[in-house]
Amino acid sequence: MRKTVSALHSELVRYGLVAWTAGNVSGRIPGEDLFVIKPSGLSYDELTPESMVVCDLDGNLVEGSFEPSSDTAAHAYIYRHLPEVGGVVHTHSTYASAWAARGESIPCVLTAMADEFGGEIPIGPFALIGGDDIGRGLVDTLKGHRSPAVLMRNHGVFTIGATPKAAVKAAVMCEDVARTVHIARQLGDVIPIEEKHIDALYDRYQNVYGQRSTK
Ligand SMILES: [Zn+2]
Repeated sequence: MRKTVSALHSELVRYGLVAWTAGNVSGRIPGEDLFVIKPSGLSYDELTPESMVVCDLDGNLVEGSFEPSSDTAAHAYIYRHLPEVGGVVHTHSTYASAWAARGESIPCVLTAMADEFGGEIPIGPFALIGGDDIGRGLVDTLKGHRSPAVLMRNHGVFTIGATPKAAVKAAVMCEDVARTVHIARQLGDVIPIEEKHIDALYDRYQNVYGQRSTK
């Protein structure tokens, strides 16, 4: 899991989701009440499997020679409250954070959004870093939506997945659709997709799409 989480940080760089050190990936260690997360303040090209840190579900450092990410409390809160989650990603990716800055959910106006997010990408509350406020805001917002991504107001994006890779994919897709819908809005009104069509698209993509062997 150290190796997986370390390597996935390079995807955040590859897809242009992060500036400086502002973004992190974590992954739950299967069968344990532990997760692996980025160390605080290290640049992405310094990350190695050995530099990753291991925390318990209260966010306490269990193993590692660096301090854990300053977002560790939010990741820990999600793992504590959502047992099906195996990976969490946080970024301040530009277009998604622009929606967060306006406190506006991204409406479901693209079939790719219906596929991946099953509806709008919701906006979560304003919350200060440090305690459980971000985590609580995330879990409360996720409960009412199929979306694996939440835009935290005035802040940025958090995504979840069954695996860390799935959470990274959701972060990449979130920025992609945030950008497209932002651009669409510059030239006029966007057209909502009917709820029944969103349901059909989501069901097909989640259950039928892709290679059978990789499900
Ligand atoms: Zn942040």
